[in-house]
Amino acid sequence: MPELPEVEAICRKLRKQATGVPLVSAHIERRRITSPQNSAEVEALLDGRTIERIDRRGKNILIRLSGGLTMRVHLRMTGNLYVIPDSRLRPAGSSAWFELGDGRGLLFEDTRGLGTLTIDDGSMLEGLGPEPLSRQFTADVLIRSATASRQPAKLFLLDQRRVAGLGNIYAAEALFAARIHPRSPIGSVSRPRLRALHAAIVRILRDAVRSACRAYSRPGGFQEAEDYPPAVYGREGEDCVRCGGVIRRIAQGGRSTFYCPKCQR
Ligand SMILES: [Zn+2]
Repeated sequence: MPELPEVEAICRKLRKQATGVPLVSAHIERRRITSPQNSAEVEALLDGRTIERIDRRGKNILIRLSGGLTMRVHLRMTGNLYVIPDSRLRPAGSSAWFELGDGRGLLFEDTRGLGTLTIDDGSMLEGLGPEPLSRQFTADVLIRSATASRQPAKLFLLDQRRVAGLGNIYAAEALFAARIHPRSPIGSVSRPRLRALHAAIVRILRDAVRSACRAYSRPGGFQEAEDYPPAVYGREGEDCVRCGGVIRRIAQGGRSTFYCPKCQR
């Protein structure tokens, strides 16, 4: 599943390949991906516009087009968005594709079909917290938001209003790095630990983005940041890399949380 680092890697690659390029024609093959918008209307709106800029907000890819229109793509479970050298040579079964002005193709592929492609009206991005890799996300911003919350630490980090798009793996890893128990009420965590948590979020995401960019520099479809080695995520029953304790898995908010009961208190 594409997490923030993979989405960031996709955006960086698209920026290099498609900025300034016109979308000659848009083809929505899987009509429900634009829901509740009408797919024929979406196609008509996109036809002939030029890609001016590509932004990311959380796990949303925002393709800024000429005329002030933004196409928003969310990859969900299995989506991928990438450029192919010749739009006529596209594989069958993509959710949507675009013929680019120079004959290349922009493809939205998605085996499970849960991804979305809509004209952004801003409503989906309202209330989204600071971007963890932006300058706005400082230790003080995190501390202010944390001390005003009673949420358990892990659920706080997964709350999109607190931090945008952090995701399950990286939330677990950041809590481990900062030695915070995932069930600790975030508002009662000490300031030095919250500072450590902020530093861990930024460092871990930067490393994962670097890893995802390497993976995406290879040809082909979806790539995971596979050479990013998790310290706790998915390691239930294995030894803690820091203290020799045993990694435990618990459920929180319907999702798995991995942590070391010995060094995360
Ligand atoms: Zn440990």
